Amino acid sequence: MIANYHTHTMRCKHAIGSDEEYVLEAIKHGYKVLAFTDHSPWPLHPFESASIRMDISELAEYADSIQLLKMKYQDKIDIRLGLEAEYFEDRINWLSDMKELFNMDLLIFGNHFHRTISFGTYYAFYNNRDQILNHYRNDSLAGLKTGLFSIFAHPDIFVRSLRTWDKKAENMSREIINCAKEQGVFLEFNLGGVRSHAGYPHIPFWEIVAQEKAPTIIGVDAHSPSDLSDTRSIEDAKRILKGLNIQITEVIPD
Ligand SMILES: [Zn+2]
Ligand SMILES: [Zn+2]
Repeated sequence: MIANYHTHTMRCKHAIGSDEEYVLEAIKHGYKVLAFTDHSPWPLHPFESASIRMDISELAEYADSIQLLKMKYQDKIDIRLGLEAEYFEDRINWLSDMKELFNMDLLIFGNHFHRTISFGTYYAFYNNRDQILNHYRNDSLAGLKTGLFSIFAHPDIFVRSLRTWDKKAENMSREIINCAKEQGVFLEFNLGGVRSHAGYPHIPFWEIVAQEKAPTIIGVDAHSPSDLSDTRSIEDAKRILKGLNIQITEVIPD
């Protein structure tokens, strides 16, 4: 790996290691680009919580910390500042404003929740199984079409909530894959899923990516500095993608 665009920080409350430890680990293992894309805060509805993301009040400090590291290590590695965020129609303009305000280099699309943040609306454990494909498709297409996102993180996360992988799931997947391709958004083969055997990456999904020749990238989804040097998951992913005849982009254009 020479670039990773999916790196979390302790602020999301489920990652470990200081920001600088991620940078040092990346340099040590030959990365040339490291983008921090921690779970985005959102202005929350009263019933929502920031239990798996930073609070809004931490955003400025996060941006400062990454910008300082960018300068400190500029001759060793290209550090980028960003966030991993959902598509929430009622708050997406706020996200766009934050990207501008903090001069962020990129946003990646982590389509985790439908409309609001709660356990039942989490696409990995979705409570409305009759509607999951429909909702996931609508949020995916809307998010991809905002033009805000460079990468679609773990686009196949919804597979965890399916009873079976059927023709409907296949058709929906083809639709979002083609939308990403049209919008110039890279589809992420997620190493977090590889490391945890979470049910994604789902190979039938990636067979469609291969057929459609959609742009693909590997994302470490680092929640610990050591994830950056987890050669086993990296080698597994490269072997699977090679077997599917999928070309990997390593460094995305600015
Ligand atoms: Zn996370
Ligand atoms: Zn994610």
